[in-house]
Formats: sequence, structure tokens, C-alpha cells
Amino acid sequence: MPQLRENVSLKPYNTFGIDVHARYFTEVSGEQDVMEIIRKPELKELPKLILGGGSNMLFTKDFDGLVIKNNMHGVEVVEETDDYAIVKAESGETWHNFVLYCIGKGFGGIENLSLIPGTVGAAPIQNIGAYGVELQHVFEKLEAIHMDTGEKMVLSQDECDFGYRESVFKKDYKGQYFILNVTFRLSKIPLLNTSYGAIQKTLEEMQITEPDIAAVSRAVCHIRSTKLPDPAKLGNAGSFFKNPEIRDIQYNKLKENFPDIPGYPTDHHTVKVPAGWLIEQCGWRGKRVGNTGSHKDQSLVLVNYGDAKGEEIKNLAYEIQRSVKEKFGIDILPEVNIF
Ligand code: FAD
Ligand code: NAP
Repeated sequence: MPQLRENVSLKPYNTFGIDVHARYFTEVSGEQDVMEIIRKPELKELPKLILGGGSNMLFTKDFDGLVIKNNMHGVEVVEETDDYAIVKAESGETWHNFVLYCIGKGFGGIENLSLIPGTVGAAPIQNIGAYGVELQHVFEKLEAIHMDTGEKMVLSQDECDFGYRESVFKKDYKGQYFILNVTFRLSKIPLLNTSYGAIQKTLEEMQITEPDIAAVSRAVCHIRSTKLPDPAKLGNAGSFFKNPEIRDIQYNKLKENFPDIPGYPTDHHTVKVPAGWLIEQCGWRGKRVGNTGSHKDQSLVLVNYGDAKGEEIKNLAYEIQRSVKEKFGIDILPEVNIF
């Protein structure tokens, strides 16, 4: 049975650096550990929270239950042909290490997702995405255990119901399953996606004329490390809000009053509007409120300047939502999981 600790500070375990406590805390390094926790009668009734890297969490109060920190490691190439590779990774693997492993083997498809913090097991939860690539583009299947029954199941792409920063694990299956491992289908034929954001420009600045997956990864890492605050230095959980998708009629109307409003049409008569732009227009960029604020280089990122309480960050998020709604009539919803 994995060791059970009591009244443990979660500060080192969430990238916002919020100091709340878990009534019970344990670490698991394999399926057997998870099964033992599920079967132990005295733990049965406790609320449970699975923690990967804590990079998409905002804790607003102590957790009156059992926090399970995932330390499951291992990567295995299950199948390889001239064209593709099927790779299975244990859920506690660090996402970026997994990306680098695949690049080292010449397996492409996740280079645009370089340097996203967190674990492999959390990646399907919000269908992580960056620079025009989403996890679902390379996802094959995952294995998970039901936290009440101990029943093990395999979920396919369809069953995960992936959407924009969404999956079944944020809806019907919320908090119910422990994801054990994720299997990916990666390409051995170069299919680069460099058209998004500043990738192409950065490759040019790096004087790379014929990029490969490793070069794209380096470019993405360079952009991210110059633009985003490092959680080790300034607590944050990346983008606090999702980009809203609004009806194209509403977008065209807004364009009359705000000619500069950026928008990316989706394929269902909606337009994705960058939440960062909306927040910036409301005057929040770089603004500090007590121990928290919106970051100076990326207004979508809320930061902890030191000793912020989760409630303070939540209140700031609420004020930002309110002002965006007032100015543009648009609801922006949190991407971060608030507990
Ligand atoms: P955690 O924060 O620990 O958990 C997140 C959720 O997943 C929680 O509900 C948790 O209970 C659940 N969970 C975790 N592991 C498991 C498991 N094994 N089984 C079941 N449930 C589980 N996200 C993007 O999509 N794109 C980006 O470009 C991006 N950039 C970021 C940049 C920065 C600087 C930061 C701080 C965050 C960024 N994020 C981004 C958000 C975050 O990195 C991702 O959401 C990541 O997948 C979270 O992983 P984690 O292991 O830290 O999850
Ligand atoms: P950016 O390049 O400044 O672009 C601003 C926004 O416009 C992004 O949110 C992006 O939406 C959208 N966008 C840009 N080019 C687009 C295109 N060609 N087609 C459709 N949408 C486009 O963004 P950034 O802040 O530097 O972030 C770069 C990438 O990293 C983005 O994909 C972003 O999502 C990701 N990122 C995510 C987090 C997180 O915590 N979730 C944190 C940092 C960065 P999308 O967000 O939908 O891509």
C-alpha cells in the first residue's frame, strides 16, 4: 500500500504555488498502487483528486479528501512501420520529456506541443493544444480505472469526445477515472505544421530553411520561453481562460465597433476570438491587483506574485470575465480547473 500522509501542503504540487492542504496525500507509481487505494475500505468514502504536474489547477481551499499524486513512468514503442509508430506512455511521464523522446526517435506529430507543462495522463483531459495541433490529432487510445469500482477500461478517440480544450473527462466522466496510460499514433513521414503563430518567422530568425521536427520543437520552445512566464519563477497555470467561439453574426456586428478585433472562423458558423485580446482591450494587461494580476506579456495568463490565495485569483478572474462581458457581450470561461 502506498504511504499515506496527513495534512500535506500542496504548494510544491501546483504551478500557481497556492498554499492549501490536503487532508490525505499519497503517491502512486503503478496500477497496483491505484487498485490498493480504491480497495481500501477506510479510503472508499473519501473524495479523491488526481494530481499530475498541477499546471492546470487553481486551489481555492483545503482539499478535504485524498490527493493522489501520479508518479507512473515508462514509454514503450508498441509498433513501428516505415510510415508510423504506435507509442504507449505511462500517465505520470512528463509531457515535454515524452515529446523529446518521440522527436529523438524521428516520430512526428507532437513537436508543436513542445514545452507544455504537466503529465501525459492529464493531456487528454483538456485535449491539450498549441500552434494548430491538438492531442486528438495523434491520439490512439487510453487505459483508465474507475475510481469507485476499480473497473478497467480502454477508451477510443470517439469515446473521449474531444473538443476545443474539452473531453468527456471534463464532462460526464469528470473526476471518475484514473488515466493509467495513453497510446499515440505518430508519423515517420515529415508533416510539419509551421503556419501557426510565430513558428515560421522564428525558424527564419534561426536561419533554418529546411526544418525537421526537432527544429520546429526548438522554435516552439524558443517562442514559449520568451513569451510565457516560467511557473518556477512566477506562479501561473498558463492561459486562465479558453478562447470564446461566437456566432459569425455577432462577430461581424462587433467588427463594426471594434474594427481590429481578431477572429478565426471555425467550421461551424462561429468565430474564435482570442480571449487575450479581449482582456487586453479591457485594460487588464500587466495590471496588478494585490498579490495577483494579468501578465504583462500575455494578458490571458493570471499570475501569483508571491503569497496570493486561490480566492484572490478567482476574484480577479471574475472581475476580468465581468468587464469582458460588459464591453463585448462575450462570456469567457475558465480553462483552469478550480477546486
Ligand atoms: P494537473 O494540473 O495536475 O491536472 C489537471 C486535471 O487533470 C485535473 O482535473 C486532474 O485531476 C486531472 N488529471 C491529471 N492527471 C490525471 C490522470 N492520470 N487521470 C485522470 N485525471 C487526471 N495547456 C494547453 O492545452 N496548451 C498549452 O499550450 C499550455 N501551455 C501552458 C503553459 C504554462 C506556462 C502552464 C503553466 C500551463 C499550460 N497549459 C497548456 C496547461 C497545462 O499545462 C495542461 O493542461 C496540462 O495538460 C496539465 O497537466 P498536469 O499534469 O499539470 O495536470
Ligand atoms: P498567439 O500566437 O499570440 O495567438 C493568439 C490566439 O489566436 C491564440 O490563442 C490562438 O488560438 C489564436 N490563433 C493564432 N493564430 C491562429 C490561427 N492561424 N488559426 C487559429 N487560431 C489562431 O498565441 P500565444 O498566446 O502565443 O499561444 C501560442 C499557442 O500556444 C496557442 O495555440 C495557445 O493556445 C497555446 N498556449 C496555450 C496555453 C494554455 O495554457 N492553454 C498557454 C500558452 C500558450 P488557440 O489558443 O486556439 O491556438
